[in-house]
Amino acid sequence: MPNLAHITRQLKEKSVGTVLTEELLSTHSTWKIGGPADIFVLPAQPQGLSDTLQMAREYALPVVIIGGGSNLLFDDEGVRGIVIKIDVGLSHIEIDDNRIRVGAGVWVPCLARAAGKAGLTGLEHIIGIPGTFGGLLFMNGGSQRKSISECVQKVRVIDRRGRQQEFSKQECHFTYRKSVFQQTDFIILGADIECQPGDSGLIRQEMLAILRSRSEKFPRKLPNCGSVFVSDPAMYDSFGPPGKIIEDCNFKGAAVGDAEVSRHHANFIVNTGRATSAQVMELIGRIRWKVYERTNCWLRCEVRYVPPGGEVKQLHTFL
Ligand SMILES: Cc1cc2nc3c(=O)[nH]c(=O)nc-3n(C[C@H](O)[C@H](O)[C@H](O)COP(=O)(O)OP(=O)(O)OC[C@H]3O[C@@H](n4cnc5c(N)ncnc54)[C@H](O)[C@@H]3O)c2cc1C
Repeated sequence: MPNLAHITRQLKEKSVGTVLTEELLSTHSTWKIGGPADIFVLPAQPQGLSDTLQMAREYALPVVIIGGGSNLLFDDEGVRGIVIKIDVGLSHIEIDDNRIRVGAGVWVPCLARAAGKAGLTGLEHIIGIPGTFGGLLFMNGGSQRKSISECVQKVRVIDRRGRQQEFSKQECHFTYRKSVFQQTDFIILGADIECQPGDSGLIRQEMLAILRSRSEKFPRKLPNCGSVFVSDPAMYDSFGPPGKIIEDCNFKGAAVGDAEVSRHHANFIVNTGRATSAQVMELIGRIRWKVYERTNCWLRCEVRYVPPGGEVKQLHTFL
């Protein structure tokens, strides 16, 4: 077992950014669930990220990359390795005509607002998504039946050896809530996106309407992780969206400990107090079985699970 105090000291000497030990991951999760990370780094700049990756390689430590933690279930045991949170150290927004160069650490609603202020349309649908731009690209997230990939021109990444490269839009293999980055271990540094000229006033009105509609549809107060299950076109045609299928199976309000299927929207699981990762997983497992019995189809998770060993994957693959 490498000497964590020694590694932490070395990271601090290299000025990689903020370096913390035993940082509770629940404070970096919109579900408010998760134990401590041995080492937690917030890189101050891309070089800080490269240096942290190099150190992890030297000591063979697992690395977990996170953004806003809005699509992740961290284990109650935390992570035995280094968690790197990409945020303000990579948070540039440069607007040039219709093009925007965006850093992976930019907060998604800030990007939507900056584009709107500059009179650029195309990003209104992301106004209510509580994550970073890197997380959004990784997930190919979006709303209003849109995805961020529609605006993407190219994506800049760094590999675990610190080498940078660019991916064209085609090379990103974007499909519904999927990108090539889910199958690789590249770290997204940022991207160039292209929008269309629009009227700032109308864009603002559209964003306010989207926010109003989201606050009516989704649970607002209790910690959650957005949609737990991804919508599947074949299931949708026969049975409807995941929220309706789960509601039809009478799961609204069903709970395991403090993990509860939202009474507001059945595709959300809320933390009503001190929910644990084990309780959330148990509840997800029960939902999947019941839905399978009823429809003969397995629901797939949009949410990803972070085990103590750090190998992050869609949650259902661990059940
Ligand atoms: C209330 C609520 C509403 C939501 N609504 C929506 C919605 O309308 N549409 C939607 O698509 N999603 C929605 N989500 C889910 C979530 O916000 C998105 O998936 C978001 O894009 C995740 O970004 P993040 O920065 O939080 O990523 P995280 O949750 O931190 O990470 C998600 C995955 O991305 C990887 N990752 C993060 N950053 C990088 C990086 N720079 N390089 C490489 N990999 C990286 C992580 O390893 C992880 O596997 C919602 C969530 C909540 C809590």
